[in-house]
Amino acid sequence: MLQPIEAGLSRPWYRLKFPDALEAQYRAETTRQSGRYVQSWLAIFTLFNVLSLVMDREVFGPEGFVVPLAMTLGVFCPVALAAIVSLRGRPTTVRISAAVLATALVDIVVVLNSARLAPAPHADVYIIIATIVPLVVGLIAPMPFRHCLWFCGASFALYGGLVLGFGLCNAERSGLPLLVSGLILVPLKLCYSREWEARKTFLIGLRVKLQGEALARANARLTVLSETDSLTALSNRRHFSERLEAAWALAGERDTWLGVILIDLDHFKLLNDTAGHAEGDLCLVAVAEALQTSVAAHGGLAARYGGEEFVALLPEADPSAARSAGEAIRAAVTDLAIRHPGLPAGTPVTVSVGTTAGQGRTRDFGIQASDLLKAADFALYAAKNEGRNRVESFMPAANVNRQAGEEVRATLPSA
Ligand code: GH3
Ligand code: MG
Ligand code: MG
Repeated sequence: MLQPIEAGLSRPWYRLKFPDALEAQYRAETTRQSGRYVQSWLAIFTLFNVLSLVMDREVFGPEGFVVPLAMTLGVFCPVALAAIVSLRGRPTTVRISAAVLATALVDIVVVLNSARLAPAPHADVYIIIATIVPLVVGLIAPMPFRHCLWFCGASFALYGGLVLGFGLCNAERSGLPLLVSGLILVPLKLCYSREWEARKTFLIGLRVKLQGEALARANARLTVLSETDSLTALSNRRHFSERLEAAWALAGERDTWLGVILIDLDHFKLLNDTAGHAEGDLCLVAVAEALQTSVAAHGGLAARYGGEEFVALLPEADPSAARSAGEAIRAAVTDLAIRHPGLPAGTPVTVSVGTTAGQGRTRDFGIQASDLLKAADFALYAAKNEGRNRVESFMPAANVNRQAGEEVRATLPSA
């Protein structure tokens, strides 16, 4: 999408139109404009015409004044008012251009008619005013260039036709009408520049929007990557720690339970050593999927804690709920029936699980999120110590002695 935008921005000066898809988007986004702007100008324009009757009266005198009065009030004003009314709401550009064109053409007729009837020295003033009409209207109205071409062409044709038809242009006085009719080129030029700028602004805005969207997508992707474990697609440890802190703070506010579960694959090094690292990876992915399904069923968050260790948090899970969830996870992994090539035939890959749960109000007694992890860790070591493929639980306490856990681990029998 950026390529057509860049191409549009560097297109030659004589090419207003974009390629089709871009053109459709440009029209859709820019054609719906408020008619109020044009309405207000047409109202001022009408007022100007009514005020000009003062000049008509001075030029034509009390008797001759009847004709311009009738033309202004009987012909011009109804057309101008109808144009104003037709622009209620959100008119299309065609409606705006048509209203503007009708008002300007009628006014040219009215003014040139006055030029035809006015005493000789005043005719030139009306000839000039008749050109100023499309000039001013063309400058003000926000028409697309292609409508402006029609507007200026029609105004010029009518002006020329009437000037000739009314005998306002002859051998002695052809200079003035010719000169002033050339002014019609001014709105044409302005309209072209205005549309060129509008299109350029549209393209630049679109480019900024697309670049912003691409940046937001890249940022979202980066966020996901920074929170995800690349092998298992579970949350990574950093993301889990943030979520655990937040969940524990929330549990404190609401005084609800928060369950934490640590899961460690049994004899995994042996699996790696016998089946190979790639097979070990496949095993980790399968266990992660089983864990994710099991934890999601309890409304919790599962993460890879590191190596072959996983962790889960379960909002509102008390000690017994956390233990049941731990049992469900252990059973789910066993049910995968992944063959462990390093163990006696028929022995599947299993996990040891440590569970804990903290009550929110114990935050006030100094229990921290890290103490929940330490308690689950301690319970995990106990599960290993008790023979693996089992679940053990431990209640969190402030400053759980990590060293005690290490000591338990040191006594574990090797595979
Ligand atoms: P235990 O039953 O006591 O937990 O024994 P274990 O063999 O599972 O534990 P140990 O800590 O001795 O070994 C863990 C192994 O996990 C060692 C390491 O090579 C392996 N490991 C860690 N990360 C990965 C990984 O991303 N892929 C694979 N394939 N292996 C990994
Ligand atoms: Mg292990
Ligand atoms: Mg381990």
